[in-house]
Amino acid sequence: MIIAIDGPAASGKGTLGKTLAAHYGLRHLDTGLLYRAVAKSVLDAGKRPDDEAAAVAAAQALDPSRFNEAVLKSHAVGEAASVVSAIPEVRAALLALQRAFAAKPPGAVLDGRDIGTVICPDADVKIYVTATPEVRARRRAAEYRVQGREIDEAAVLADILKRDERDMSRAAAPLKQASDAHLLDTTHLAIDPAIRAAIDIVEATRAGRGRD
Ligand code: C5P
Repeated sequence: MIIAIDGPAASGKGTLGKTLAAHYGLRHLDTGLLYRAVAKSVLDAGKRPDDEAAAVAAAQALDPSRFNEAVLKSHAVGEAASVVSAIPEVRAALLALQRAFAAKPPGAVLDGRDIGTVICPDADVKIYVTATPEVRARRRAAEYRVQGREIDEAAVLADILKRDERDMSRAAAPLKQASDAHLLDTTHLAIDPAIRAAIDIVEATRAGRGRD
């Protein structure tokens, strides 16, 4: 089974992806980490994230076995990832790796921005997770506070709006809900009910298709 989860920054898709994968015994790929790793490698080389040649070379040389998730999850790397990810050749360089991950038995949960639309258009289940920008900013700010970081929630909201705009308006694989994706709006859902709702979507989809 392949489950595709897409959604904007801080929508909760990472937590949902990880939990669904554990629940169904599937492998999990947070595809944002790929774009973040490309961005980090460009920044480490002293280049700008909109330097296409540097970004494409970094994408082609990517080694996921060497990812340091804690470093990749930083705010600065996320911003740069949103820039490198708009470069079509960067996306093309990461396509085969993602499809190969999804194709390996027993299947996988992939979360990102274009999983249901481009990477796995034939996924068994597609979920588009969203929440209002204000709620997403509040959740992200709470995560930062837990990490002991002083945070201005208004600045987090401004960043989220900027990232949404960039990810949704780019020409290459923009963030959007696939026509056959189930919408999961977590604006008024805490994490446990959101997980329950996601499992219900998977179960209903499988039942509808006559799978066990
Ligand atoms: O999900 P995360 O915040 O880690 O993603 C970082 C950036 O990588 C996103 O803002 C987006 O621009 C890009 N991305 C993408 N396609 C994906 C996953 C992430 O363009 N499948």
